[in-house]
Formats: sequence, C-alpha cells, structure tokens
Amino acid sequence: MEKKPPIVRCPACGGPSLFAPTNSWRPFCSQRCKQVDFGAWASEEFRVAGRLEDLDPSELAELPSPDSPRH
Ligand SMILES: [Zn+2]
Repeated sequence: MEKKPPIVRCPACGGPSLFAPTNSWRPFCSQRCKQVDFGAWASEEFRVAGRLEDLDPSELAELPSPDSPRH
C-alpha cells in the first residue's frame, strides 16, 4: 500500500501544498510562495528597525515653529 504524503495549506497563498521530501519549499507550495513570505517578513523587520533612523533632520526643521510668525 502506497503512503501518500499529506497535503497542507500553503502559508503564503493558502493553496494546497505537498508536504513531502520532494517539495523543497514545504510547507509552501512553491519557491515563489516561500520567497514572498520571507520577503514580507524581512521587509517588515527592516521597516521597524529603521523607523527612527529614517527620520531626516531637515524634515524636522521644516515643521512650522510656534515662535515664527506666519503671514
Ligand atoms: Zn503557495
């Protein structure tokens, strides 16, 4: 009796993914889905980590100051 590998849900696209040694991207269904998921995670990490450092001092200087008269 042949044992069938289980089909799991791909975390990236929600489609069926073959959870078997033949599927190098398991639990994802494809290389693309695996890269998409990792890319989203990596960009999220990068965005959070770089948030404060992204502040540009020149942008802060352009903010209207309450002391300066505006006509
Ligand atoms: Zn997928």
